[in-house]
Amino acid sequence: MIRVGILGATGMVGQQLVRLLEGHPWFRVTALAASERSQGRPYAEACGWRMTTAMPAWAVAMPVVPPAPPLDCDIVLSGLPADSARVAEPAFVAAGVPVITNSSPHRMDQDVPLVVPEVNADAVSAVKGRRGFIVANPNCTAAGIAVALAPLHVAFGVEEVLAATMQALSGAGFPGVASLDVTDNVLPYIAGEEEKIPRELNKILGASMTMSVQCHRVSVRDGHLAALWIKCAQQPSVGAVKDALRSFRASAEVAALPSAPAESIVVRDEPDRPQPVLDRDAGNGMAVTVGRIMTDGAWLRLLVLSHNTVRGAAGAAILNAELLKARGLIG
Ligand code: NAP
Repeated sequence: MIRVGILGATGMVGQQLVRLLEGHPWFRVTALAASERSQGRPYAEACGWRMTTAMPAWAVAMPVVPPAPPLDCDIVLSGLPADSARVAEPAFVAAGVPVITNSSPHRMDQDVPLVVPEVNADAVSAVKGRRGFIVANPNCTAAGIAVALAPLHVAFGVEEVLAATMQALSGAGFPGVASLDVTDNVLPYIAGEEEKIPRELNKILGASMTMSVQCHRVSVRDGHLAALWIKCAQQPSVGAVKDALRSFRASAEVAALPSAPAESIVVRDEPDRPQPVLDRDAGNGMAVTVGRIMTDGAWLRLLVLSHNTVRGAAGAAILNAELLKARGLIG
């Protein structure tokens, strides 16, 4: 068993990590870390548990500790806010501890692989021979879009993407957006988001797509929806796009990882899908659902839905950790 420390364990991403690591075949959580507010308290007391399943019994009395080395663990999974991640994650690297992070500060660093295992698993080989390192998963919106664009980029050469996102409240953490700001409302700005998505997608896909992104916060609990307008080197037919998406398969290595969904992409033909409430839990929250696929003049148009705290965060980090373990890069 590989011993795992969770940084930011009391937050939305941290709680998903605790939930998803319950009974994991390779990983056992041995340390839960959060801010000074929580440190020294039992996890159940420090954490306002917001998952719909019961808190795992092993977590209840575990004392919350500072997110700094030394920690009683072999690797850390980080769900820290950017400011604390910027300091804490390099400290673990310096102490020889691998860090798998959901946070943004190091995603674009040249020596940090930004990984979606179904898309660019080989990027992790950059950490070979290093004891302490960071492997990042992308921004919660970019994570789902990367999976949907990967087969289209390979088959048709994606050159330009326009995107309008409708992002769930849990993407802002807890307590997140004030209820009076978002009830009966849509917020047409999410700080930093519109810059992150294009640069992260190009890094993951090894592409140089031109992208323009407009992000919105909507009153949905979980599940980020993105409307995409896509131009490719060769404009494909709707049938060819559906075939490329439906025939997309993770490599045998990635498909065998414990958290990999049976199907990474679910294509819906109904005119009113995907919807967050109906589709975010596809593949235990790890599948990306694509629908409303059509051509519109020179554009290919479609919708992409993914669960932001699972495929876009905790589940993505665990899948990356599993990939590292499968390749003998941790443990
Ligand atoms: P959150 O709900 O606000 O949780 C933040 C966590 O970090 C809590 O455990 C908090 O501990 C801890 N923390 C806050 N300030 C700290 C400090 N100064 N020192 C140490 N620990 C501190 O946020 P979240 O939504 O889980 O997001 C966590 C990270 O993941 C962020 O970087 C975010 O951008 C990224 N991310 C989030 C999502 C998503 O969908 N939510 C998706 C992808 C990536 P206390 O409870 O003790 O305050």
